[in-house]
Amino acid sequence: MSTVLVTGGAGYIGSHACKALARAGFVPVTYDNLVTGWQDAVKFGPFEKGDLSDRARLDEVFARHQPVAVMHFAALSQVGEAMSRPGLYWRNNVEGSLTLIEAAVAAGCMNFVFSSTCATYGEHDNVVLDETTPQEPLNAYGASKRAVENILRDFEAAYGLQHVIFRYFNVAGADEEGEVGEHHRPETHLIPVMLEAIDGKRLGLTIHGTDYDTADGTCIRDYVHVMDLVEAHVLGLTWLQEGRGSRVFNLGTGTGFSVREVIDASRTVTNREVPCSEGPRRAGDATKLVSGSTRAAQELGWEPRRSTMKKMIADAWQWHLDGRYER
Ligand code: UDP
Repeated sequence: MSTVLVTGGAGYIGSHACKALARAGFVPVTYDNLVTGWQDAVKFGPFEKGDLSDRARLDEVFARHQPVAVMHFAALSQVGEAMSRPGLYWRNNVEGSLTLIEAAVAAGCMNFVFSSTCATYGEHDNVVLDETTPQEPLNAYGASKRAVENILRDFEAAYGLQHVIFRYFNVAGADEEGEVGEHHRPETHLIPVMLEAIDGKRLGLTIHGTDYDTADGTCIRDYVHVMDLVEAHVLGLTWLQEGRGSRVFNLGTGTGFSVREVIDASRTVTNREVPCSEGPRRAGDATKLVSGSTRAAQELGWEPRRSTMKKMIADAWQWHLDGRYER
């Protein structure tokens, strides 16, 4: 069976990707430093503890497992933190990725799937965000991901590194079978924060800004179910193995939900009140991020069939009620 090196495989998206890879017949080898990941989430293949900055350790892991591809999820991903600690983001996300990319090329592992973000686009009023939209990130998180995209292009030109870049919109939900789910410490993402507030695990949810130029004044995002998202990665891997060349794909549904709409949907799904208050804008937030692209559907055959708001919240709620990671 072919092995795939999954960096960040102990994290939220990476652990779901390991499940999808195992289901598709690959052996996912998790490479994770467990700073934000959870060893309990490594359930579908071997675990190799290590840091992206540790080239010797990476070389050893490539030599031991001989992966046919890398799926690179390991990253810091909080917009607020990126605004206040940009150096951390440049060092971890950019320098760490560069070390990994160099190790992959040195090991002759020339298929690379990269987890990028719609935050690389920045603010574009009334423009459909597709893969050709100029990348003008508003925060160091988006800037760090854009930098890695550029590194991949340079490594393709120099060494032939084939890569698929996925620009995610907002990832939500959990494995429907309850084996893995979302668990960040601290948690900052809208849906899990809201579910913790509903369940009395935190005082309440603060809406970050109610004066945006949208119908209800709150930011609009395009939410994708995590299992749909990771299935796209398996399709991206097949794409590379078939020699179809480097490509960028947006992963979003094309439908936007405001923060207030997400809150309303949670009230309906959980049948509980959502304790919330209104606060100021969060630095670095774009007003609206919605994918305008059908490239992933047309070229990869991707169908985000689980990505209804109701199902994403229902699966996240089920995970929240059952979640069993070390705490
Ligand atoms: N948000 C909010 N309160 C929170 C967390 C998030 O109002 O406690 C808003 C945030 O400002 C953004 C949207 O919810 O408009 C989605 O934020 P999240 O952090 O989940 O993802 P991001 O868009 O930053 O990747």
